[in-house]
Order: sequence, then structure tokens, then C-alpha cells
Amino acid sequence: MLLLIPGPVQTRPEVRAAMAVDIAPWDDDTQAELAALRERLLAIAGGVPGEHAVLPVTGAGHAVVEACLRSFVPPGGKVLIPLNGAYAQRMARLAREAGRAVVALEVPDTRPVGAAEVAAALAADPAIGHVGMVYSETGSGIVNDPEAVGAAVRAAGRRLVLDAVSAFGALPFRMDAHPECDALAFTTGKCLEGMPGIGMAVARTDRLLACAGRAGSWVLDLAAIHDHALRNGWGSHRFTPAVQVLHALGAALDLYDREGGQPARLARYAENARVLYEGALALGLTPYLERRHQGPIVVTVHQPPDPAFALRGFVAALKARGVLISNFFSTATPTFRVGCIGAVTPGEMGAAVAAMRDALDSLGVRRRAAA
Ligand SMILES: *Cc1c(COP(=O)(O)O)cnc(C)c1O
Repeated sequence: MLLLIPGPVQTRPEVRAAMAVDIAPWDDDTQAELAALRERLLAIAGGVPGEHAVLPVTGAGHAVVEACLRSFVPPGGKVLIPLNGAYAQRMARLAREAGRAVVALEVPDTRPVGAAEVAAALAADPAIGHVGMVYSETGSGIVNDPEAVGAAVRAAGRRLVLDAVSAFGALPFRMDAHPECDALAFTTGKCLEGMPGIGMAVARTDRLLACAGRAGSWVLDLAAIHDHALRNGWGSHRFTPAVQVLHALGAALDLYDREGGQPARLARYAENARVLYEGALALGLTPYLERRHQGPIVVTVHQPPDPAFALRGFVAALKARGVLISNFFSTATPTFRVGCIGAVTPGEMGAAVAAMRDALDSLGVRRRAAA
């Protein structure tokens, strides 16, 4: 089965095989392994040892995004969130439920937020301390621009929390070039092509010290995780981590390095997305995004207006042809969503497009272009 979903992604056999061991978290070898993993991840994040720290939180990605918001935005503090997609909405909910005040910046889910829009919103409300932004919006496939938006946040003297969960490892971002960024969040199971189960933040250590005590949660307190590492070592854990996931991440990073790191991964994903986008057009389908806004992580396509089309039936017909895509959508209007990330080649993407053609034909879907 070819898994074309934006996490957990298709993985390589070497990564899956690395899970098949029993591991003691406190063992010296395990601790050395986590410490080494942190160094490798810090390098991918463009972090500087001592100035930035990699802070793991076992759990789904939402847990680490919540930890970033709780640890840096003060209780009752205002966070501006450009709402151009389902994951931005989720970030807003995480912040609200944690008792932070969300200032919504409404933006359609078909385009990135403009840096000028963010600058204007910040100028209009000096009480906003943070901007919370999703880098790659996994709901629609757009990519917001942390270079331009980060510069606007910096110029306004505010702080940035970046949800880079579906971007990290493929789309470029360097913490050392973004002093306005308190933290970015990512997970093991997306563009790094590891197993799901651990979220990680890369955070500024000066800000961790300055913001200590804000989280209102023991589990989701990045300052406490940092403090624990300072006292007990960079291989230590506060609670039982998903050790097999960490071990498999080492294998995934070996493959990442062998492929050529971030530029090579981005190039492969961008080619996957191009094959899919062109393929959808050739099948008479209408991609949800204009080509200039189409990112390399996820391609969403308007559901055909033909009454013979139903999402679940289409997903089942594709699955019968060896391709698994999401059986739900989270765009403003009905779409189907195809992930371009994971251990997937452009050749396999071409085969997936052929499977889509067969599936549509078998269902008798003739009217395919969006109205
Ligand atoms: C996957 C993802 C998350 C986290 O999702 P989980 O299901 O909690 O792992 C958060 N933000 C974005 C943009 C994502 O793509």
C-alpha cells in the first residue's frame, strides 16, 4: 500500500525495523543516543548549541504546539493567529483552551498571509505579544512565509511561535536567523520520515529562562523540560518517552543525511507535488490552489461535481488500487487531499495519478472540473 497522507507518512523498511527492540530509557546508551539526536535536530533547525534547545514531548503534534503556546504566551496574553486553514484554527483552539486571548487574523485558506497584513494587525493592537503561525497549512497545502512574516514580527518587537509540524526537515527555516522566534514545533512522523509519537520544540534558551512558570501545566512546560535537561543531562527524560520512536528517528535521520538533507528532501517533495498537480489537471480535475500558492507538502483537489463522486467511495476505489489517501477534507469547500511527503518517489506519484484515473473511471465520474 502506498500511503499518501500528510502524516504519519510512508516510511522506509530500515526505519520500521529499528522499532523492533526493547529499550530502557535511563540506560547510558539510550541517553547518549537521545543527546546525539538532539544535536542532529538542532543542526537541521539552524540552531546554535547553548542558544537553542531541542525539547521532546511524547505525544501527538498538538501536544507540542500547545506546549509552545503555554510556555511562551503568558496566561491571558494576546496571540495573533492568521487563520488561513484548519491547523491554524486548531492552534487558535489550543491557545484559547489554555486561557490565552486569540486575536484572529482572517485570511482565506487559498493563499498565504501577507507580512503587511500581520504588521498592520500588530500595529493596531500593542497588547499583542505573540504571533502564532502555521508554516505549511496541512489542511489546504498553502505555505505561509516565515521569512517575511518573521521580519514583520521582529520589526514590531513581538515574538513568534511557529507550527512547523508539516514543514520541518523539508521547508527551510533557521532559528539562528530568527531571533524573534521563541519556538518552532515539529514531529517525528512527517517530513523527517520517522515514526509518529513524539513532538519536539526547538526553543531559545534565553526565552525559556525568561518565561519560566507560565505554562500552567507540568507535562506541557518547555521551560521545565529544559531545566530538567540542564540538571540531568541532554539524554535524560522527565517521563517515559516513546523510546522506540526515538530509536527509529536515528535511522530516519541517517537516511535523511544520505539523501542530501533539507534541500534534497524539499526537491523530491516538490517534484511529487508537481506530478500530482499536473496529473490532476490532466485528469480534468481542478486543484484547490492556484499553482503559485501550491506548496510541496499536500495537494488538495476540488471534489468533482459529478453525482457519481463520493469521497469515501473514491478513497475505497483508490485503496483497492494500492493507494491510500485521507478520507476527509478540511478546506473551506469539499476537496480530497493527497500527501506528497514520506518515503515516496515521483515515479510512485505518477502511478498514484494513474490509479486515480482508474478509480474515477470505475465510479463513472465524468464531470470532473470544478464549476
Ligand atoms: C500534523 C500537524 C500537526 C499535529 O498533528 P497531530 O495529529 O497532533 O500529530 C500540527 N500542525 C500541523 C500543521 C500539522 O500538519
